[in-house]
Formats: sequence, structure tokens, C-alpha cells
Amino acid sequence: MSDERLRFGAGTRAALWRELASTIEAYFEGVDRGRVTPEMNPAAVRALLDGCRFDEPHSPSEALRWLASGLAEHQTHTPHRRYFGLFNPAPTTMGVAADALVAAFNPQLAAWSHSPLAAEIERRLAREFGERFGYPRESIDGVFASGGAEANHTAVLCALTHQFPEFPSRGLRALDAQPVLYLSAGGHHSFLKAAKLCGLGAEAVREIETGADHRMSARALDAAIAGDRRAGLAPFLVIATVGATNSGAIDPLDRIATIAGRERLWFHADAAWGGAAALVPELRPLLEGIERAHSITFDAHKWLSVPMGAGLFLTREASILDRTFRTETFYMPREAKDLDVVDPHLHSMQWSRRFTGAKVFLSLLAAGWEGYADAIRHQTRMGAVLREALRAAGWRIDNDTPLPVVCFSDPSGADPHAIAMRIVASGGAWISTTRLGGRDTVLRACITNFRTDEEDVAALVGMLDEAREAQARGAAG
Ligand SMILES: *Cc1c(COP(=O)(O)O)cnc(C)c1O
Repeated sequence: MSDERLRFGAGTRAALWRELASTIEAYFEGVDRGRVTPEMNPAAVRALLDGCRFDEPHSPSEALRWLASGLAEHQTHTPHRRYFGLFNPAPTTMGVAADALVAAFNPQLAAWSHSPLAAEIERRLAREFGERFGYPRESIDGVFASGGAEANHTAVLCALTHQFPEFPSRGLRALDAQPVLYLSAGGHHSFLKAAKLCGLGAEAVREIETGADHRMSARALDAAIAGDRRAGLAPFLVIATVGATNSGAIDPLDRIATIAGRERLWFHADAAWGGAAALVPELRPLLEGIERAHSITFDAHKWLSVPMGAGLFLTREASILDRTFRTETFYMPREAKDLDVVDPHLHSMQWSRRFTGAKVFLSLLAAGWEGYADAIRHQTRMGAVLREALRAAGWRIDNDTPLPVVCFSDPSGADPHAIAMRIVASGGAWISTTRLGGRDTVLRACITNFRTDEEDVAALVGMLDEAREAQARGAAG
């Protein structure tokens, strides 16, 4: 009976759920005491995996234990307080619970009629976040995506549909000029992928230079659009980055909105990480002008700390998702066809869909807007503490943002890459390097965990100082 191997009996399941819950709890309690980083040893990982054979089934509990202990050893622990990383969160407790619940109930969000509550929860969340960004309530539409990359790809498709109404039916070949889009040099590389995936080609992406503050230069944007028009190209989309991955910079939203309006371009704001500032009254002014964007990318799996993946595409152009994605089928459920509801598959590039909104909804329901504002405020403050501690220890701060991304370097020229590698290899923390505005490589540390505190920040600065001194000693000796 397949039941015995796929579902198991009630007693076995009850034991497995208990073990799962205690495994998760032990990880939550213990993660900070372990290493942040794994060893980079593909042979060891493969040898471990080679020990697993599908013709010798494990008991459910053995299988679970195997994976949990394997992940504990072979993972960069993004939930660790000393992961000063890319925008990967420590997951909220309610987010983890929601993801487990969703896996068990397995609602299908392609069709409204299969998951009325789930579909309405996602619609409500789109409206709530849209309002926080300043969209007028009645015109908000939105859809959850796997992440920011999918949301950005959605933005490019919507912009093409909006600017070239024949695009959805006849494709790019129906256009008489090559469409081009604009993005700051610090913008996200998912737009290059989106350009390839849409058939525009990567050369359709114009990288606009940034000023000393790493924000897009509005003057350079103006000049690039004018130049492309003279060359017979068809500008159609300008993207403002709200919290650049490398520098945290927020492009000048109002100025870009004005240019986009004058030039009649679709204006998209990529606020995958930085959009969370909308939830904190004293940070909200940083996003002034985002409400003028036709569409916004916001990732709940970044600063809202829900488990991956949870992207959100929002728009105030209420019909654009429908025009971009609607297809007619004969086999999809029809129970809700006369109701005032939307089948999510008609507004998304996904078809079968996981209930991604659940982890956002339960996290928000338990934390409230205020709980989230506190977490974001705390992380922002830890960013300032880190900046101060680095300055005090003689490091130079190379970026300028109120958000908790800190780019820095050693004024006497220590090699940033070697410093980051030494810290990562020690397992004590995770930090990285990047390049700002195509210039020299700098160290980069971001407060991505809502639990990271002063002690963790001091420990990081201690590790950096130690690594810098070791390098100086090495150079001298
Ligand atoms: C993270 C990020 C993306 C990509 O989002 P994913 O969720 O990783 O797909 C795009 N843009 C910005 C600004 C980001 O921070």
C-alpha cells in the first residue's frame, strides 16, 4: 500500500511532527552558537549524499534527521545573527509555521474557486502594501511572485504591453523600432535577465551613470533618452532602484517620475529590499515619489523576513496585468466565472501557484504594522551603530544611505577581498565585497537579521580589525 510509504500511519506522523517541531526549535535556539558558514568542500558534500540510496529507504525520522544535520553543517546560516549578508532574512516564526501549514493544505492558487480565502488574502495584501506605497486604493492590482526577479520580469512585460499594445499578440517583431529601457548602474541584474527573457536582448538595457552618492543621475537619464530617440530607438521603461543591492542607494524618485511622465515611459520602482522603509514613519520620506511609479517590486522575503520566496509585484494601472497575461482555456475551473473575482493565473506568469501570501499574512497578523516597524527601525539603528564603530576603528565609509547597508574600506589599502575571505573562512560571520560605481572593491556588510545587536556588531568590527592586522603582519613579514 502506497499509503504506508507516502502518508504513513497516524502514530508515525504524530512522532514525525513532534520531531520536526523540536528540530526547528533546536535550530532556532542554537543557530547563533554555531558557525555562520560551511566549508567549501564539494567532495565532502557529494560523499555525504552518495551515502543516501533510494533503493534502501530510510524511516521517516531517519530521513528527517539526515537532512537536518546535513543542512546544519553544509549551509551558510542566513538566520544567524552574524550573517551580515545579502538581503536574506532570518525567517519569522509565523512565516515558518505558515509555510508548513500551506504545504499540508496545499491550496492551488491558479483559480480563485479552488482557494477563495487564499486568493482574497493575497489580494488584500497587495492592496495594503500598495496603499503603504501611496497608491490610490481603488486602482491597486498586484500579484505574488517567486521573488524580485520574477516581479521585475513582470514589470518589463507590463511596460511592453502598455507602451506597445500590439506586443501581447504580435510580439516584438511587430514593432518598428528597438525598445530600450533605463536602469541605474547600481540597479539589479535581474533586468538584464528579464530583457533576455522578453526577447529584447541584454543590449536593450541602458545603464545610467550614478553620481558620487550612487544614485542615478537624472541629467544622464535625460541625455540617454534623447540620444536613443535621435538614433531611432523606442524608449519605453525607466526603472528607479529603491535600495540598491551594493550601496543601498535610493534613486531620485520624483525627478525620475517627472522625466518618465514627460517622455511617456512606464516608470517602475524596484524596491525589493528598500520598500520596507514604507512601514516606518520616519523612513517613509525616503520613498517620496514612489507613488508615481506605475509599478513596484517589493520582496517580503527580504526585509519582512518571511522564508523565501515571496516577491510582490504591485501596480496602479489596474488592467495591465490582465492585458499582459490573460489567456483563454477550456479546462480551468468555471465555478466562479460569474463572480466579481480574479483567477490569479490570469494576472501572473505562474499557473499552478503556491499560497505565498500566507507567510506574509500570518507574520503581519502576529507582529502588526507596529511590530514590523520596530524590527526595521532596530536594524536601521544597528546599521548606524556599525557605521560609527567602523569609523572609530579607522575604517572609511564609502557609501551614504540611512538604510543599514554599509560599504567600507581600509584607508591604508588593505585588500578587502582577502579580509572578507578570512572572516568567512573562520565561520565567525559572513560579509562580502562589492564594487561601487565601477570603482575599487569595498567591503560590504548589511544588517539583515532583526536579532543582530550591538554585541554582534562589535564582534564583526573585532574580526575586521584582526583580519586587517593579520594582513599587515603578513605584508611586513
Ligand atoms: C533581491 C533584489 C532583486 C531580486 O529579487 P529576488 O527575490 O532575489 O529574485 C531585485 N532587485 C533588488 C533591488 C533586490 O534587492
